[in-house]
Amino acid sequence: MPSKYVIHTETVPRRFQPLIQSGIIAWEEGCLKCPVCVKTKCVYGVYDHRGLDARQMVESIDNACMNCLRCVQGCPNELIHKSINPEFMAMGDEHWTPNIIASLWKQADSGKIPVSGAGYPGPFSGPGFDAIWTDMSEIVRPTRDGIHGREYISTAIDLGKTPSYLVFDPEGEKAWAKDFSPLLNIPLPIILRIPEFGAISEKTISGWAEAAKRLGTLFSLSTEMSAKIPEGYGPWLLPSISADVEALEELPSGCRMVELCLDDDWHETMKRRGEKSFAQACPTVLISAKVSMAGAMEEKALQLVEAGIPIIHLEGNFRGRGFDDPEKFLKDGIRSVHLKLVEAGIRDNVTLLASGGISMAEHVAKAIICGADGVFMDFPMLIAMECRMCRRCEKGLSCPRLRGEVGRAMFFEQLDKETFEGMGTVEEECELE
Ligand code: SF4
Ligand code: SF4
Repeated sequence: MPSKYVIHTETVPRRFQPLIQSGIIAWEEGCLKCPVCVKTKCVYGVYDHRGLDARQMVESIDNACMNCLRCVQGCPNELIHKSINPEFMAMGDEHWTPNIIASLWKQADSGKIPVSGAGYPGPFSGPGFDAIWTDMSEIVRPTRDGIHGREYISTAIDLGKTPSYLVFDPEGEKAWAKDFSPLLNIPLPIILRIPEFGAISEKTISGWAEAAKRLGTLFSLSTEMSAKIPEGYGPWLLPSISADVEALEELPSGCRMVELCLDDDWHETMKRRGEKSFAQACPTVLISAKVSMAGAMEEKALQLVEAGIPIIHLEGNFRGRGFDDPEKFLKDGIRSVHLKLVEAGIRDNVTLLASGGISMAEHVAKAIICGADGVFMDFPMLIAMECRMCRRCEKGLSCPRLRGEVGRAMFFEQLDKETFEGMGTVEEECELE
């Protein structure tokens, strides 16, 4: 039995104090000067380390406060209040909620496996993955047995077409797989993927390639980006390529898997080129085909598998919804494609991967319950690096998490653009009414 798969982590100091949901307001005026103030009774001692983060102009106690409200309730003159932080509440959107972002920051801070379930205070149902209830308490009870508790669970998955049966020699001693095609085993059902947007430097991209290498998984990115990664990472890169066989010539050295980007004319292209031509040109490289979560995706996935494609990547939008139907969630898309392949009797011939909106650890398990073999993880990597999902970078505006790199300096051109760009052009000598 292989040894347990453990991800080794190291903590590094964060660059910014994270935004928090609420702050403490302590009015000094009118204070009774009690001999034993409620502030000295804070069990977390947050008032003892009171200070100001000058870069962000936030009270240090705001980040340390655990929201027990003991001091708020205990002040005899009602001079201590908790306030909701509007900047926190404005983060992200309805999918990448402020709480999900804050929870990812916390996990990135500690490098620890998220454990929850003891005294869950939230709602019991919601949209998307929140509509799936699971009970894994019989397998692992982290709150009782610790995270590396009782049962050994393999998280490894095979990418590619697993052989349907083995053929034995007449003596029944030797066996081999019929129609053998390349298989790739990764130790966890997660492939890293470059996020759709984000202020991301080349160094960060190389760092993610290194993470994929250390984890033993793959890092999905465009061919152009993969060309910028130093040599030696080819086996851990998963470049997206066009459906031209010539594109195989540009693959990083040692590359083991590629993703085909098929246009609307994909059926004709596949007929013309076919997986066969890829297989002949590069027999050791696994081919995956991306299918967008939109109308007729089940049919497209089926036809691709029948054409010999061993891996289907079902892609939802970055909020985990369909591209043509925002009411359709990734979980529904996975179930629908999975069941179509089961119905056709070819589900075992293909690996089904899913991406889009995977934001929490439980989403990985839930995507697998719905029928996926593995998932792509993208934005959580960016959020772990203090991204707030504000999407300013998409509009060419400055990224708040990078502002600290120039201290509290501001650049006129940038401010000018951010403030006045939306007003359109103003003609010379035009008078305002
Ligand atoms: S609310 Fe609780 S944790 Fe926060 S400062 Fe007051 S006593 Fe401390
Ligand atoms: S914090 Fe905002 S601007 Fe910066 S990478 Fe994230 S989404 Fe883009």
